[in-house]
Amino acid sequence: MSADRSLQILLDELGRLPGIGPKSAQRIAYHLLEADAEEARRLADAILMVKSEVHFCSRCFNYATGDECAICEDSSRDRGRICVVGEPRDVSAIERTGSYRGLYHVLGGVISPMDKIGPEQLHVRELLARLGTEEVEEVIIATNPNIEGETTASYLARTIKPLGITVTRLASGLPVGGDLEYADELTLGRAIEARRAL
Ligand SMILES: [Zn+2]
Repeated sequence: MSADRSLQILLDELGRLPGIGPKSAQRIAYHLLEADAEEARRLADAILMVKSEVHFCSRCFNYATGDECAICEDSSRDRGRICVVGEPRDVSAIERTGSYRGLYHVLGGVISPMDKIGPEQLHVRELLARLGTEEVEEVIIATNPNIEGETTASYLARTIKPLGITVTRLASGLPVGGDLEYADELTLGRAIEARRAL
């Protein structure tokens, strides 16, 4: 294969990554070309490692390397509370605040009729199964403060409240339309502490 062709393959792959435009792809590709083989290998190994070792927690669908994630396995967590989020990265955002010591449940997305995503496409059934077997007092809905996140929150509230479990939602104050992961820790921490019943 020609040098041009192999460089082009790398540029194409880098260009597929989120947030990497053609200019950034070129900068990274030339950096890797000039880097020593060891540095390039570490990056390649790190990519292969997450793909082979990290999967979803069998209980909450957060990222895990064992059967359950580190949070589900931690016996010091408050098992009476489940915080429901859209994606595993939202778990990291809430963990960074240090304001929450309960468990999580990752839906794997949010309800979005436009994209044909309903409750059946999400881990809602597994959440309801947990509420049937675990001693849960409160479900905190922490989907993003946008239309899909609110639709998902009201659907879950309607479904869960009849089970006699308290359902709360993060307090307003988070940037509307924004993502939890971009909220600063202080604001997100306050929104958790000042959560309101749905
Ligand atoms: Zn878990």
